[in-house]
Parts: sequence; C-alpha cells; structure tokens
Amino acid sequence: MAIRLSDPVTALTGVGPQMAVKLARVHVQRVEDVLFHLPNRYEDRTKVTELGALLPGMATVIIGQIEVAQVVYGRRRSLLVKLSDGTGYLTMRMFYFNRAQEKAFQRGLWLKAFGEVRQGPSSFEMIHPEYRISSSEPSGGMDSVLTPVYPTTEGVSQALWRKLTDQVLKQALPQVVELIQQDCLPDQYKLAYQTSGLQQALQILHRPDGDSSLGELQAATGAAHQRLIIEELVAHHFSLRKSKAAREQDRAPRLSEDKNRASRFIDSLPFTLTNAQQRVAREVANDLETQNPSLRLIQGDVGSGKTVVAALAILQAVSNNTQAVLMAPTELLAEQHYQTLKAWFEPLHIAVGWLASKTPAKQKTSTLNALKTGQLLLAVGTHALIQEAVDYKNLALVIIDEQHRFGVEQRLALRAKTPEGVAPHQLVMTATPIPRTLAMTLYADLDVSSIDELPPGRKMVETVVMPAESRRADVVERVKTACEQGRQVYWVCPLIDESEALEAQAATEVHAELSGALSKLNVGLVHGRLKPKEKETVMAQFRAGELDMLVATTVIEVGVDVPNASLMVVENAERMGLAQLHQLRGRVGRGSEQSFCILLYNTPLGAIAKKRLQTLRETNDGFLIAEKDLEIRGAGELLGTRQTGSVSFKIADLMRDQHVLAHVAPTANKILQTHPQTVEPLIERWVGSKEDYVNA
Ligand code: ADP
Ligand code: MG
Repeated sequence: MAIRLSDPVTALTGVGPQMAVKLARVHVQRVEDVLFHLPNRYEDRTKVTELGALLPGMATVIIGQIEVAQVVYGRRRSLLVKLSDGTGYLTMRMFYFNRAQEKAFQRGLWLKAFGEVRQGPSSFEMIHPEYRISSSEPSGGMDSVLTPVYPTTEGVSQALWRKLTDQVLKQALPQVVELIQQDCLPDQYKLAYQTSGLQQALQILHRPDGDSSLGELQAATGAAHQRLIIEELVAHHFSLRKSKAAREQDRAPRLSEDKNRASRFIDSLPFTLTNAQQRVAREVANDLETQNPSLRLIQGDVGSGKTVVAALAILQAVSNNTQAVLMAPTELLAEQHYQTLKAWFEPLHIAVGWLASKTPAKQKTSTLNALKTGQLLLAVGTHALIQEAVDYKNLALVIIDEQHRFGVEQRLALRAKTPEGVAPHQLVMTATPIPRTLAMTLYADLDVSSIDELPPGRKMVETVVMPAESRRADVVERVKTACEQGRQVYWVCPLIDESEALEAQAATEVHAELSGALSKLNVGLVHGRLKPKEKETVMAQFRAGELDMLVATTVIEVGVDVPNASLMVVENAERMGLAQLHQLRGRVGRGSEQSFCILLYNTPLGAIAKKRLQTLRETNDGFLIAEKDLEIRGAGELLGTRQTGSVSFKIADLMRDQHVLAHVAPTANKILQTHPQTVEPLIERWVGSKEDYVNA
C-alpha cells in the first residue's frame, strides 16, 4: 500500500514507536514532515584532494597509504594512523576504537576517508572521519553527487535520514501539490517558480544531482531554495495571524479608563508627557477597554520613557480592581521598576508587591497570599511572577519589559493563571526596535506602537572610539576630571560569553585597579554574582551620588536610570553587538548635561566590529541602529537567543534571507484575497506539527 503524506512516520520502514519519539523532537511526526525536513548543508564527497593540497577547515575526501598506526597515551588515549600519498601526509585520529579497528590499520593498506581537515600537533589531522580500507589503491570520491546533511537530534543518524527521505521521495513526493499560485508572487519569484516546480525543488534539495553546485546550494540562491524560502515565510506569517485570531477568541477583563485618576497621576509627575508618550498611552488605554486580550509591543529607544506608559496601563487595571504585574528579565531592572512605581503609586495609595526568585520565604508567602486573595493589585518582579506557585485573584494585565515576546512555555504558564477562555492583556516593551519588514513578518500576531520621540532637552551622547592599548591611561585621567566636576561615571567591563563568574572576576580586577589609580574617588562595583541586597545597596549609593564611579559588568545594560551619570567607558567594545552597545550607552545622556561615551577596543579590529563602532559614533538613533544591525549581522541575534521559544525554520534563514522579508506580507495578502483556501494547508505543511505553539 502506498504511503500517504498524512500518515504518521511509523508508516515508514525503519521507524518504530521509539524512533517516532526521537523524530518528534525535531517536529517530524508525519510523512509530509519528512519531506519538508530539508538538509541544512551539503558535503562534497565527490572530489579527492591530494594530501599536499589540504588546508585547515576543508571538508574533503582524501586517499592515502598507511605508514604507521599506533595508540598514544596523551591527555586522552588515541589511535593515530599516519597516511601519505606522495604529495604530503595526514594523520587520522580516533578517540573511540576497538581492538579489531586497531588491528585493521596495517602498514601498506590504502585508506579513503572523508572528514574535516584541522591542524594537529605535527601535521594536518582528521578526527573520526568516515573511512574505507582497501588493499589496492582506490580511485574517485566517496559519492557521485553532493551529500545532503540533515539537521538532526540524538539517536537519529544521517544514514537513517537518507533511508527515510529515500522512501518518501519515491512514494509520497508525487502527492505534493502546489499551494502558492504564481500570480500571487512578486515578479522575482515567478521566475523561480517557473524554473522549479515544488516536487522538483524538494527532489533536488534532498538529492542534488550531477549539475548541482555546492556554492549555490550553500548560499541558497538557486530556484529550488528561493521558491521554498518564500513559501515557508508566508506560511509562518499566516500562522502568526492565525494565532492572533485565536487569541482574540478569548475574553479579557474589560478595563475602563478612570480619566480623572489618570490625569491626577500625570499631574503628579515632575515632567510633561511627550506627544509620542501620549499617543502610545492612548493606544494602550483603548486596548485595555476591549473585551478581547490585546497584545501590544511598545518599542521606544532607551530613555524614551516607556515606564510611565506602563504605569498608566497599570493604573487603568488597578482602578478596575483587577491585578497587574510588571516583569523584567533581570532582578536589577525589576528592582529599579519597583522603586520607580513605589515612588509614583504610594502617594495614590496603591501598594506595590515584589516577587523574585531570591525573595526571602516569609516575604514571599505574604505576597503570594495577597495576590491570591486580591488584596494586592500590583506586583513587580522577574519571571517568578508567572511561575506555578503564584495564583492570582483576577490577573488582567501583564507587562513584560525588555523582551520581544513570550516564549511558548511562558505563554502557557500565563494561560494557567486565568480561568479557561479568559486571558490577560499583554504589553511588551523593548528598546531594541524591530525593523518594519521584520515586524510585519514575524510579529504579525501583535500590534506595535512606537515612542518615536525623546523627552525634550536630551542631548545626543557624544561617542568616541579608541584603541585601549595606547589610550587607556588618558581615559582614566578623563574619568578623574569628570568626577572632580561632580559628574558620575560608568565603567563597563568586558563581556565574557557564557561565564558570569569570569565576568565578575574581571570586573573585580578592574575595580581594584581603578580604585588604586583614582584613590580620591569613591568607586563602586556591581556584577551578576553579587547578592540582590548587595547590588541594590551599591545601586542606591550610586543613585544617591555617594559613589563617583560604578565599575560594572553588562548587567547594567537595561533600565538603570541615573540622570547625573554623564560619562561611560566601555571596555572591549569590539566584542559587543550593536544593539547591546546602544542599550549600554543609553545609561548616559539621561540628564541635562552633555554626555559622553568612550568605546575602548582591543586590536586587531575585525571588519564587522569596525563597522559597528563606526555606526555608534555616527548615530544615536535606535531605529537607524537596528536597521544597521540587521544589515551587518542579520535578524538572527535580533530575535535570537535572548528569547526562548523563538521560531526555527525548515529552510528559511532570517539572516541570509532578509531580502525576502519585504515580500512576505504582500504575498500573504494576495493569497488571502485570491486563494484563501490554501492558507490552512500552507500552515499545516510548514508549521503544522508546531500547532501547540499557535495555540499557546
Ligand atoms: P525607557 O524607555 O528607556 O524605559 P524610562 O521610562 O526609564 O525610559 O525613562 C527614562 C527617564 O526619562 C526617566 O528618568 C523618566 O523619569 C524620564 N522621563 C520619562 N518621560 C519623560 C518626559 N516626558 N519628560 C522628561 N523626562 C521623562
Ligand atoms: Mg526601561
């Protein structure tokens, strides 16, 4: 019996219940999913490279004769097999081997292997290559066409992927139908659709033929890639719209605006709202009055005044006697919000609760109780606020600062906080603006507001870029002068990826050094390893002006607000991303003084880093910087690791394919007008098995 696209993967030879579980981890559940599980790269095993012509990093087939094979006991026991072919040498290194393998490598035998070349201690090496042994000299590569390499998960070998795709290509490929009609596409894609049918495209991506070029496949520029990339992005866009529609099916508490109370609050502020703040606050107020859960992203550059807009939304919720929470990604930032809201709200007799993972048990219990009974209407904290143990009487508004959106798990956690069929309004705030094309494609499920105006009187931060080796001493001198004039200074220490401990250590060293060099000044230190209390004490001292300088790790990146700080020094600025540097720099320039930012870099400076630093020197405009960031680095990091639950694509790559993004929404609109019946199958095909994501 023929295999059908809609069959479960267990219909395929080689897939039992256990394998099905493994495949589900990479979202492969049906036969159709196998077909759309596409290789993420290709290897050229067709050509043999002479040993004398090898270069590190090359992935290639080699042929050589065994000179010697021996087990060595270094840091790790390994089997080394030395090969030569008359033009050069190569060592094959294995860490896992058995007696039989050890014996098989007889001097004089021939070896054909495929692997990646790397520089070893004495010669080029391949570690655990695929190999074949023969008694006579072999010829030719290991495959006659390019070899697909599939994204995979533990326990699923490339051989199995090839076996599965073999079956599916033979038996199910003919059932695949075109869903996007050419007339819906922008002109440049019509060509790709004409040159490559869908079935043909899938066939060629799974099994490149003799004419396929590795370069074209890797760059994804061929017709087969192009037609699938736009299809996937369009399908994804539809799934977001669908998720928006699903959300709008839920009910949300209808929060009417207490205009008197709002204006009393606004009058109590030491400043007047900018036009942009007023406009966005109005949009939010309207959202909250609707009876369906709203989801709005507020983007506004650092210092544009997002917090007060959040406060107005909170006021609207508590004035209806419903609950609101404000969450921030770090405890430090959450604490800052806590202080701000306390100062604003206590005069209005609105109590502010505090909840973070490190909150002492006793205090936690009483806050939890008050949230459960509804005694407390407002809580500020970290994501601890939506963890299991927290029950709300009537949660109506969730505000998330400095994060683009919730991941799936967080959304599910949030759902559990409200009765079935009811969901809170959500407000997400970010200082990393999302370029418009990207927003239209990837944020089609939320409404976007922009605070595109800074409060008056802000002076542009003047930014200079300097090599650390030759200028560090001058910079220390400049810091001293600034502090003597009553200014405050941030000194930001190098970012050390992955290690908070090392980062803290580096900051401690810099702190010791600067305290020594500037013995007349009060120098504080803040890093991620301090206890929340210690951090808060240091921050409070800095805010109160008791410290002249704050040596900090990048923990101060978001939210920290000390208007008198007007100079920032950033070490190893070349290691940081554009958006991150812009966020950091936003800690200064908050008062009326002219502020400065000194970006120190270590040489040699790579081309991309150079471009980044140059961009920062030239502009303070967050939107422009975000566009540049996208240009330099692509969408990857904008959306990337900072959010859980970020989407993964089968073939599209936001970094590589950013030029496609602008075409996505218009194409989707055309399809909706002319072939609405294909929307559902498109989602099913590309996003289908991630349906739970849509429902979250
Ligand atoms: P961000 O958008 O970066 O979160 P904040 O809400 O922290 O910005 O605001 C930055 C600073 O500007 C704060 O000190 C805040 O009190 C102040 N601020 C906000 N709105 C205005 C305004 N309209 N005029 C003057 N200062 C303002
Ligand atoms: Mg903020």
